[in-house]
Amino acid sequence: MTYREELYKFCPQCGGRLVKKLLKAQEPRRLVCTDCGFVFYLDPKLATIAVIPLEDGIVLLRRAIEPGYGLWVLPGGFVDVGEPVEVTAVREVAEEVLLQVRITQLLNIYSYTGRTTVVVAFVTEVLGGTLGPGDETLEVGIFRPQEIPWDQLAFSSSRDALTDYLKMTNLQV
Ligand SMILES: [Zn+2]
Repeated sequence: MTYREELYKFCPQCGGRLVKKLLKAQEPRRLVCTDCGFVFYLDPKLATIAVIPLEDGIVLLRRAIEPGYGLWVLPGGFVDVGEPVEVTAVREVAEEVLLQVRITQLLNIYSYTGRTTVVVAFVTEVLGGTLGPGDETLEVGIFRPQEIPWDQLAFSSSRDALTDYLKMTNLQV
């Protein structure tokens, strides 16, 4: 998701008009309400993804929704407000690929210039379930390192997390 402050025209507090104002010299211009003075800070969106080693590969799913319809990603999704990030990761894995997992370690955190989403990647271990396509998923697969469809991955975070995981585990691409 790209950073787009133009999307917001009205104050969420009073419905007044928002304009861009420089509040501090070193900071970007902020959206400020012309009526009540409310400052509408645009925050990052937090998402999480899970590396699931299974058999001799890693679980990927093909997305059944935009953005990235038909492309492959690691299972994951957006963190709900108030939900611990680890809980999101486990929940999204269950919803998307029908596996029960537990988190074994934090892999890395991915953020990109000009992008809204910050992605926390975990390594997980399968506790149960049967791999299959769940919500928002066209198909699931287990990919050995040399089979990963690098040119058909939807998001930079999946590409970077797979690269980091393979480096960490000394698996050759
Ligand atoms: Zn206002």
